[in-house]
Amino acid sequence: MFDFMDMGYDEPAESLRSGPYIPEASECMRCGMCVSSCPTFRLFQIDEETPRRRIRTISKILVENQPISKEERMHLDNCLQCRACETVCPSWMLYGQLFDQAQTRLKAEPGWLAKLAFSLIENKRWRMWLMPLLAVYLKSGLQKPLRRTGLLKKLHLADAEALLDKPALQALADFYPASAPKRGRIALFTGCIAEHFDRDTLLAAIKLLNAIGYEVLALSQQGCCGAIHQHNGQSAAGLIDNNIRAFNGLDVDAVLHTATGCGAMLSEYQSSDGEAAELFRQRLFDITEFLLKHWPDKLQLLPSSLKIAVHEPCSQRNVLKNQQAVYALLQKIPGLSISALADNQTCCGAGGSYMLTHPANAGQLQALKQEAINASLADVVVSGNFGCAVFLSTGSNKVEHPLLILARQLPV
Ligand code: SF4
Ligand code: SF4
Repeated sequence: MFDFMDMGYDEPAESLRSGPYIPEASECMRCGMCVSSCPTFRLFQIDEETPRRRIRTISKILVENQPISKEERMHLDNCLQCRACETVCPSWMLYGQLFDQAQTRLKAEPGWLAKLAFSLIENKRWRMWLMPLLAVYLKSGLQKPLRRTGLLKKLHLADAEALLDKPALQALADFYPASAPKRGRIALFTGCIAEHFDRDTLLAAIKLLNAIGYEVLALSQQGCCGAIHQHNGQSAAGLIDNNIRAFNGLDVDAVLHTATGCGAMLSEYQSSDGEAAELFRQRLFDITEFLLKHWPDKLQLLPSSLKIAVHEPCSQRNVLKNQQAVYALLQKIPGLSISALADNQTCCGAGGSYMLTHPANAGQLQALKQEAINASLADVVVSGNFGCAVFLSTGSNKVEHPLLILARQLPV
């Protein structure tokens, strides 16, 4: 049923938060205020691709215990889990949680490739074993002939392979001492894939923290945040409990994350040990917020005349809601020109594993974002989420983490 909603796509209104809090899927008012915020509605312009229709499907699964049709399943799976709909719902519906619960109930049996990917994400030893092989492959010149065989396409690996850069092979050190008078000690969340493919960002984070007087621990017992598992109907409980146990055992002032996608997941950790999860969440901060709060007045960065456009990942805008910290932190660089990328409210299409599972939809959203990037005339586009940065990087135009820009301007 399509009620009174206008089919046009408008910039979503600011969050209204005026209605009663209704966490149950069955209690959605079907008011339609979430429709225009949804990127899949923007692509398809049909009611089946709106949050409220998905909530209807979720209600069938979770509340009415009814089977859903193939079409309903397809439209549900088309969701990017960007959670833009949550920010405009007047009744505070927790769409992200409801979606994850529905996926768990549907219990999708992953194929062998997905199983392999889940195992690699979970198992640090396997990754350390695989990375040298991957590095040899990426250096060998075998990429082009292998692509020509079409094998990668057949295995649904072509998109993943095209995104790969050279991985870091060595593990991070356990401890990085402060390079200024010591003010405290923090633990850094290093992630799973990002630990190998976004090493530069992690090293920039360590350099900045050391420069403002913080020792950094890069705990080897930590693991994947669990987001990919949770959003794909798999249990993330083991990964969550492992991280809570590992970080809660440390004597640190804070646990910091550098990728907003992981940060969004970590900030919502729940566990059978509620107190332990609460302690974990209390000490968890986004690194940009932490650096901004603890930046010493006397630390002056070198000037730069670069023009920077800021991409705001959905995990930052819609879950962490701290994107202003990025702009404020970048303003520490004298002379920098900083602006928001147009259309920041629309998901770039990366969506965790979405860019691999739904390449056509993801590609359309990516193209819209590229238009905004081109129109910005920026020298550099920054994004606080590794997945978005990789997905939006093209050839020589690499989308970078804002920490890289900051670390380069540290006085030597
Ligand atoms: S999810 Fe919220 S905004 Fe969307 S139709 Fe339901 S009550 Fe309205
Ligand atoms: S999470 Fe994003 S893609 Fe999914 S229904 Fe909400 S707005 Fe649409």
